[in-house]
Amino acid sequence: MTGRARHVAILGAGIMGVTTALFLARRGVRVTLFDQGADVLTGTSRWNEGKIHLGYLYANDASGASARSMLDAGLHFRPLIEALIETPLQDHITRQRDRYLLHPESILSRDSFAQHVAFVDGLLAERDTTSYLGPVTSSRALSRAELDRLSNVPLSGGFAVPEYSVETQWMADRLRDAVYVAPGVTLRLRHRVTGLRDAGGGQAGPWTVEGTGTNGDGPFSHVVNALWEGRIALDHALGLPLARRWSHRFRKSVFLRTDRHFDVPSRVFAVGPFGDLKNYDGRSFYVSWYPAGLLAEGQDISPPAPASHSSDTQIFAETRACITALAPDMASVFDAATETRVEGGWVFAQGRGALDDRSASIHQRHAFGIYPSGTYISVDTGKYSTAPLMAHNIADCLTDGYTW
Ligand SMILES: Cc1cc2nc3c(=O)[nH]c(=O)nc-3n(C[C@H](O)[C@H](O)[C@H](O)COP(=O)(O)OP(=O)(O)OC[C@H]3O[C@@H](n4cnc5c(N)ncnc54)[C@H](O)[C@@H]3O)c2cc1C
Repeated sequence: MTGRARHVAILGAGIMGVTTALFLARRGVRVTLFDQGADVLTGTSRWNEGKIHLGYLYANDASGASARSMLDAGLHFRPLIEALIETPLQDHITRQRDRYLLHPESILSRDSFAQHVAFVDGLLAERDTTSYLGPVTSSRALSRAELDRLSNVPLSGGFAVPEYSVETQWMADRLRDAVYVAPGVTLRLRHRVTGLRDAGGGQAGPWTVEGTGTNGDGPFSHVVNALWEGRIALDHALGLPLARRWSHRFRKSVFLRTDRHFDVPSRVFAVGPFGDLKNYDGRSFYVSWYPAGLLAEGQDISPPAPASHSSDTQIFAETRACITALAPDMASVFDAATETRVEGGWVFAQGRGALDDRSASIHQRHAFGIYPSGTYISVDTGKYSTAPLMAHNIADCLTDGYTW
């Protein structure tokens, strides 16, 4: 990475692009933020479950690398975000620890999952966890009576773990408010980026951003490619090396608000193509059933068009039926919903295959991160929870000459 940034083009206004813009703006760097949407944060970063990963989900990565790769970013998430939005997260976080419940068709046995939980607990015991979203105490195996209260199918086991989630719609609104007033940040919305021109060649810049409805914006001293599902197409057009393998998946989930308060616990049905539910504040819920919401899956450079084989009404009905079959206490939440939305986003992963295939590389989720080349940085966000720490590192790099 060369040279201190003067004017940075950030491509993509999801959590990755917006937090990078905000950290740069706080350091006095001019930023132009491009997105094809009518506003910032209208895509995947608004419509996901907001789990701030500590690594418990990645039990089928026997190397432990996936859990390790997410831990630091998860522990830094709250202080970094609170500094940017200048608002505490505390009222928009799931109230209780998460529960991982082993579905009867789980690809992992209870003993294997227990070993992984103990491994992550061990990693956390060596860290300062005071700034995480909620209290971090050791995980606990759930008793048979607890399991029977949480599900009416014969679960092979379950664990309460110290992992929490944030409400992503609320977060998207706060980040949007912050970027609207950030000094030195210009928004270029409804602007589909189609290419980059590099005046010097060899990724040295200065850069011009090409897109729909323009002859070119620039010059920019540096470019950050945070386009998520659109990212590798641009890397490829610049002749940069791509990952060994990847996949794009488009997933929809159900977002509910109720007029009454419910204490139903958050749950993940693991390990495989099942579903989960999050209860943020007793009245806002996220519910997903993986097979119902998976609308596209592809391994090309550009993502496939999401299929229209399922309408939102069908996705809602199937998600409701499958989740309430496993978690009957959710029936009254669905009945009390005054607002329901079926919304989705992309998952880009440097892995592929089916979740019910134990040997599929999709279970390995440690390959993501920051890929600099000259004055161009391509960033694979990996997860929502990993974005703020990487954004902070990119801003350090562009202002302090920090190198990877
Ligand atoms: C259903 C679901 C659940 C998930 N749950 C979790 C979770 O619990 N925890 C977690 O950590 N992660 C989760 N994720 C993953 C997480 O949401 C993503 O990793 C994260 O939001 C990606 O952020 P981003 O800023 O890179 O992408 P985005 O938010 O998608 O932002 C990229 C932006 O680029 C824009 N764009 C793309 N191409 C172009 C182009 N050519 N021109 C102009 N603009 C373009 C898009 O409009 C978009 O606004 C989930 C994802 C899904 C789909």
